[in-house]
Amino acid sequence: MGRVNISNLTLEELEKYIEDLSEKKFHAKQIFKWIHKIGVVSFQDMTDISKSLREKLEENSYINNLEIIECQTSKKDGTMKFLIKLQDGNAIESVLMEYHHGYTICVSSQVGCKMGCKFCASTKEGYVRNLDASEIEGQLQTVQRYTGKKISNVVYMGIGEPLDNYDNVIKSIKIINHAQGLNIGARHISLSTCGVVPNIYRLAKENIQATLSISLHATSNEKRRKIMPIANRYSIEELLQACNEYIKITGRRISFEYALILGENDSYEDAMALVKLLRGMIAHVNLIPVNEIKDSNYKKSKEESVERFMNTLNSCGIVTTVRRELGSDIDAACGQLRKKYLENKI
Ligand code: SAH
Repeated sequence: MGRVNISNLTLEELEKYIEDLSEKKFHAKQIFKWIHKIGVVSFQDMTDISKSLREKLEENSYINNLEIIECQTSKKDGTMKFLIKLQDGNAIESVLMEYHHGYTICVSSQVGCKMGCKFCASTKEGYVRNLDASEIEGQLQTVQRYTGKKISNVVYMGIGEPLDNYDNVIKSIKIINHAQGLNIGARHISLSTCGVVPNIYRLAKENIQATLSISLHATSNEKRRKIMPIANRYSIEELLQACNEYIKITGRRISFEYALILGENDSYEDAMALVKLLRGMIAHVNLIPVNEIKDSNYKKSKEESVERFMNTLNSCGIVTTVRRELGSDIDAACGQLRKKYLENKI
């Protein structure tokens, strides 16, 4: 049997593991704290643990250590984009952004993505595998260690579809959220999905106070199917029904992401159709002028269309903001850096 990835265990799992090693359960809390609060990557640094236990741990387990291959920093706003190597050699991306309320990290949840959204770079090279919880939480640990900045918010908006890697994503939230770990409140964690409907229902019942974002991007099934294959599986009506259920159970507001694409979904009629869909819901709309990527013909909406779209929604009582464009001078949009890496340009 190979060694156990000890950083992938919840505190309860770690307690069981320590007992299985015929050691006292309370050591689990110490070890969990060293890995997830303090962020050490070597058992030797766990100074309040006996040498013999450290050696035993070393023999039977390991701490998953991720490696930063490349870091780009935006000269405009300080946004930092990381290309991170996993232990099996695969690469993922994380982005660190500074807001007035602190540092937000955007994490990946999978290596590649199956969802096939036409405007998204993360999915162009297909899907490789799910990340485990230690690889998701490890992105926070690695970036904090590298930058010395304390992360206060997490968004699952990097490479991958979080609700297509449900169990590992939930586990990572529990570890990130844990008082003996990074202790980031669930309300400071957002999860974005292209609309994996059954797992929205599951998430509603988890009793996690995270914010849910839905990548809607179109207002009719026909238009949505053109840009998002997931729309062939679940209609907008089914998706919104799940969202209403989520709001009913959690009492949490949902955020709808809408990428504005020139001539595709950015007309006044589109805005009015969106008003009609969302009227009466506790929702917030986030408009994203689409990031133009290679291998896609989609162009960013004109500034005046973005403004008109936002004003139409706001004047109809739907709270709408335009996402601040951070890191526009680096490859900050999902998947672009990894793609370069795969093309041997890094
Ligand atoms: N798979 C998840 C999370 C990843 S992407 C999801 O689909 O929600 C985070 C957000 O960025 C999503 O709303 C996604 O649709 C959007 N996005 C992806 N590529 C983009 C691009 N080129 N321009 C603008 N938004 C993009």
